[in-house]
Amino acid sequence: MKVYDIRCPLCGTVNKNLSLEEPDGWMECEHCRQAVLVLSAPGVPHKRVPVYTPHQLALRLSASH
Ligand SMILES: [Zn+2]
Repeated sequence: MKVYDIRCPLCGTVNKNLSLEEPDGWMECEHCRQAVLVLSAPGVPHKRVPVYTPHQLALRLSASH
């Protein structure tokens, strides 16, 4: 099982050893308890992982219209 270190975009806490069942998924920050959407490519653990908050995601979606 692959695990990821995901940095929370809200508080900056690195959530270590997250096991994501799917390459695209939500994780809950262990520090601020905010859910953030994690977008990562499977098999590329060292690549920088883009992380979007629901607010950022909404901005991206609204900007595409
Ligand atoms: Zn956080």
